[in-house]
Amino acid sequence: MSAFSSRHIGPNSAEKSEMLAAIGVQSIQELVDKTIPSHIRLSGELKIDAAMSEQEYLQHITELGAQNKVYKSFIGLGYNETIVPSVILRNVLENPGWYTAYTPYQAEISQGRLEALLNFQTMVLELSGMEIANASLLDEGTAASEAMILFWNSRSRQETKDGVNKFFISKNAFPQTKDVVLGRALNLGIELVEGDETTFKNDGTYFGAIVQYPDVYGNITDLAGFIGRNEGLRVAVAADILSLVVLKSPGSLGADVVFGTSQRFGVPMGYGGPHAAFFAAKDEYKRSMPGRIIGVSKDADDNMALRMALQTREQHIKRDKATSNICTAQALLAVMASMYAVYHGPIGMKEIANHVNGLASATANGLKAAGIQVGSDSFFDTVWVKGVDTAKIKAAAEAKEMNFRIINASELTISFGEPHTMEDVATILSIFGANKAESSALASSVLRTDGVFTHATFNKHHSESKMMRYLKRLENKDLSLVHSMIPLGSCTMKLNAASELIPITNPQFANMHPFAPVAQAAGYHAMFRQLEKDLCESTGFAAMSLQPNSGAQGEYAGLMVIKAYHESRGDNQRKKMIIPSSAHGTNPASAVMAGMEVVVTGCDENGNINIEELKAVANQIGNELAGLMVTYPSTHGVYEEGIREITSIIHENGGQVYMDGANMNAQVGLTNPGNIGADVCHLNLHKTFAIPHGGGGPGMGPIGVAAHLAPFLPSNPVIAAGGSTPIHAVSAAPYGSALILLISYGYIKMLGAEGLRESTEAAILNANYIAAKLKGHYDVLYTGKNGTVAHEMILDCREFKKTADVEVADMAKRLIDFNFHAPTVSFPVAGTLMVEPTESEDKEELDRFIEAMIKIRQEIADIESGLADKENNLLKNAPHTADCIINQEWNYPYSPQEAAYPVAYLKEWKYWVPVRRVDNAYGDRNLVCSCPSVESYMHVEA
Ligand SMILES: *Cc1c(COP(=O)(O)O)cnc(C)c1O
Repeated sequence: MSAFSSRHIGPNSAEKSEMLAAIGVQSIQELVDKTIPSHIRLSGELKIDAAMSEQEYLQHITELGAQNKVYKSFIGLGYNETIVPSVILRNVLENPGWYTAYTPYQAEISQGRLEALLNFQTMVLELSGMEIANASLLDEGTAASEAMILFWNSRSRQETKDGVNKFFISKNAFPQTKDVVLGRALNLGIELVEGDETTFKNDGTYFGAIVQYPDVYGNITDLAGFIGRNEGLRVAVAADILSLVVLKSPGSLGADVVFGTSQRFGVPMGYGGPHAAFFAAKDEYKRSMPGRIIGVSKDADDNMALRMALQTREQHIKRDKATSNICTAQALLAVMASMYAVYHGPIGMKEIANHVNGLASATANGLKAAGIQVGSDSFFDTVWVKGVDTAKIKAAAEAKEMNFRIINASELTISFGEPHTMEDVATILSIFGANKAESSALASSVLRTDGVFTHATFNKHHSESKMMRYLKRLENKDLSLVHSMIPLGSCTMKLNAASELIPITNPQFANMHPFAPVAQAAGYHAMFRQLEKDLCESTGFAAMSLQPNSGAQGEYAGLMVIKAYHESRGDNQRKKMIIPSSAHGTNPASAVMAGMEVVVTGCDENGNINIEELKAVANQIGNELAGLMVTYPSTHGVYEEGIREITSIIHENGGQVYMDGANMNAQVGLTNPGNIGADVCHLNLHKTFAIPHGGGGPGMGPIGVAAHLAPFLPSNPVIAAGGSTPIHAVSAAPYGSALILLISYGYIKMLGAEGLRESTEAAILNANYIAAKLKGHYDVLYTGKNGTVAHEMILDCREFKKTADVEVADMAKRLIDFNFHAPTVSFPVAGTLMVEPTESEDKEELDRFIEAMIKIRQEIADIESGLADKENNLLKNAPHTADCIINQEWNYPYSPQEAAYPVAYLKEWKYWVPVRRVDNAYGDRNLVCSCPSVESYMHVEA
């Protein structure tokens, strides 16, 4: 039986030999020795268990799952039981065509997921009553803090002058939301005031507010009263998405922002995630909305096409001026939630909402009939029970394998979800010694009168055949790892193996509530402990927090830990963070979110951090230095020789070193952050540790820290986690998106120490092979001192602009005609392509990519020599659709064959792109971020 590592790693030993010869080295050992500075190399193998086979792992994980006790959950607090429609489970969640796709930056090859995300936005807009929505945020807790920051940044000049800095949060909001928001508020100098929304009145010192609808007790909040009493105050409403199907929309009651989680729309609880948060606002906030927004535009043939809108808002452009650090979000889960609504349609969705409300209502009526006090008569899905002995009830409920939310000795709540039944209600009532009762209808005063799910998309795919075909049709528009390698530098699009993914739909893991008693989650916690230990071993650190839901969130968490450490030593003034100019945009954006000031330092002509400049800057900042954020190997694709000197300079000046771990795929088993002198780093588990990108999320960004920082790791107000003196929660759930941690766990278990090291070596081999084969065709911008690259390389394409008027974007679009997703465009250097093959691609696939790149170089040469026209050529007109080749009059100065079949391997199989080049500017000028009407959907007038 083959070891999993031979399935995960692309090149076999014969291919490896050929590739080493092409590079001009004798062995992988020699290549690695030439590439990684010897003074940072690890001496032995990682202390990680030997690899399990795929069979052994699947057996093991089933046993671990069996250790979880999955009780029926009535806990609520933003996590509810739901039924994942099988057609969505099978065709989306379990389907690599959906989950291995990348974020839709290359719009032409992403039309399917863009449509699904546009559906998500359309659904959110209708339910919330807002005017602009994004395509997901990480969770409800962080969405709340984004709302606060959005309002903070939109204060008027007068408000800023008057020092208006108070923000109201209802005491009836979810506890985890309050804690996440509090942490963010403290950083920005916002005074967070918790209070009672039934009496609160703005005295002019508040710039905004958050209220929960329905509130934490299930009571349907009097939004109209609150908003009416506080005219002019910016109000964000944390709303239960299922309740919005029947309740009045917050928008209709005057809200400025509506946010929440879409989990209960067919996404399993997963012990905390991943789920897509939604975020919608009034139009006036569109320029500073956080997150990715999908918008409608047109392609070069004037057909309607979708793409991400208003990208200039995002951190990769705005850097330290950014108002949010969101990069990876929750695209796959937003797709699932939107498809849940597409499948059920308006009638089905109302049935589900009414079913849930009916269960709650029957419970409340039964309790009242038995003389038990119910805290509110106006509720959607949650019954608030008062005046009972909750310890006794809890024990009785657990004996029936049910979990309620215990508030204190005499109060609890019971929240219902889609799979619950009247039998459950009968059991619950029996626990209280009450009898069955009828349900009663919601008061018409709280009900919405406007329609929801009105768009055609939500009104036609209700049979399974139709739904299956709709999902497949969208999937087939997109290019993902099921088609070809995705050579995106910095993003590490490696194999997401089926055996790693299978356990995430095991109900023993998928159906756990994050706030279930810890004793019920023994399987999860055993997995966390192992994963933490193995990730500590991989990073050389003492402790891990599994809480952050993305790399950027990990950056924020790590910086907050650094801040807490400085403050614990009385160093409150240490707030300046040095960030090299080559850093990813999230680095400066996260530093600003953490209340730090960014100091940018430059790089030398070899792309390395300018050590002299760094030294001078660090010395000058002195005791105000918080630390350095550094990516290693650098975003330029080299292992900087001076890294230890760099980290020493920071330590000598009292700073802490944050390592951006996005490039860990070039380190695991060979060197590590602890070894280079870092104090904290995040790991993008969706890059190095095999979690799929999901078309823009989910991800996970746990942070590792050295021992002196361990006490500050984040906790959670409901379930304690993290260090002894923790910072505030950075995510809503204590272990972030716990469900997908299984994927990284499986990756490590099935590779073992040896396989992990071999993966890193193969990643370096593959990158150097591409660099060697492209020599003479393209210049690699930066190499190490022996002429090698790390696990990725930057191809310098800047001169083509001068010689042939070709931009990197043209090359990116032309690659689509060759069945390839483009490498990373213009990061970290404008006008370049950054290529990262990962270890999972074999020589055959690398050779196809190399052939495509060489052919494109020839096409550029033809323009340079005058053989091809400067404007009307293969690159400028790319990509070429079947429609443009078959149905349109062909008046290009090259043949359809040259356009569509430029190389022989395409004869075997050809990906047909559904749209021509998408016009970004047009869409931003004419912003539409919900599904347009069916007629305009077919054709956009020029
Ligand atoms: C991907 C990446 C990030 C951001 O990580 P997310 O998980 O997308 O938030 C930060 N830095 C670098 C260098 C990256 O490549």
